[in-house]
Amino acid sequence: MKLLDGKKLAEIVKQEIKEEVDRLVAANHKRPNLAAVLVGNDGASETYVQHKVRACKEVGFDSTLIRLPETTTEESLLAQIDRLNKSTMIDGFIVQLPLPKHIDVEKVTQAIKPGKDVDGFHPVNVGRMAQGLPCYLPATPYGILQLLERNGIETSGKDCVVLGRSNIVGTPISILLSRNQYPGNCTVTLCHSRTKNLEKYTKRADILIVALGQPEFVTAKMVKKGAVVVDVGITRIEDDSKRTGYRLAGDVKYDEVAPKCSFITPVPGGVGPMTVVSLLLNTLKAANKEINYPD
Ligand code: NDP
Repeated sequence: MKLLDGKKLAEIVKQEIKEEVDRLVAANHKRPNLAAVLVGNDGASETYVQHKVRACKEVGFDSTLIRLPETTTEESLLAQIDRLNKSTMIDGFIVQLPLPKHIDVEKVTQAIKPGKDVDGFHPVNVGRMAQGLPCYLPATPYGILQLLERNGIETSGKDCVVLGRSNIVGTPISILLSRNQYPGNCTVTLCHSRTKNLEKYTKRADILIVALGQPEFVTAKMVKKGAVVVDVGITRIEDDSKRTGYRLAGDVKYDEVAPKCSFITPVPGGVGPMTVVSLLLNTLKAANKEINYPD
């Protein structure tokens, strides 16, 4: 069994990005600038945003963190997005999810200019992704593709089973792995809560991608020997023995599944760090105006 070590790969990719930023700055370009909008005080969101800000610093990007109170109205958040859309200083930005319940996520997502939507959630980016056109790929699926590619994992002709059909992970990775390119050319089955006899599908997967949010759901008997297993899940579980008061659990029962796999991601240290790095790659593309978006 080999580890799909996202932490290690993320450091390598960050070094590559930093070298590119050094070249840009040496050629008198401004540093790429990623903005993040954080509404409210959700503990996990706070942690994720801090990781993103820290990663920007590591690669030499400027970053702009905009904190808004939980009581922020939808109108004032949309006004903030409008300012970021128009800013010449900001290359790309994200609005950290989840948002407070009184704010319509769809409206917010669609208000972001596609050319600055480095999370890749705007319907224009999702549509471009589905058609194989240049776009910002959503960060988590993009991170998974890099984990497969940079570990030399063969995907062509493989049976790939994706558990979970969210807009940010399951659905886009199922589209990306069915594309006629590498990594891709898989025969993809997308499973969800209405799938009957899930095990029937998981057992035949050469590549199993799990994005459920159900801690330790996938057990050894559900996995084929030699499978590649990518565990996207991260759930905080109360644990008094930890300084933080919680531990992080993936969707896969790692200890019993890992010995059966050819490759597997750990949690933490697998998909998570690659998600952050993918956001940096999208921001670099935005700063370099690599993708031609109409205004
Ligand atoms: P969502 O809650 O949006 O989607 C979960 C999906 O899993 C749904 O499609 C749901 O089906 C399906 N599902 C849930 N329970 C079952 C079950 N028992 N059997 C079959 N299908 C089931 O989750 P996300 O995609 O946003 O996130 C999934 C996990 O990944 C979470 O733990 C999240 O924290 C983590 N995550 C990690 C990231 C990283 O960077 N490492 C980034 C993003 C997410 P249905 O549609 O029918 O309801």
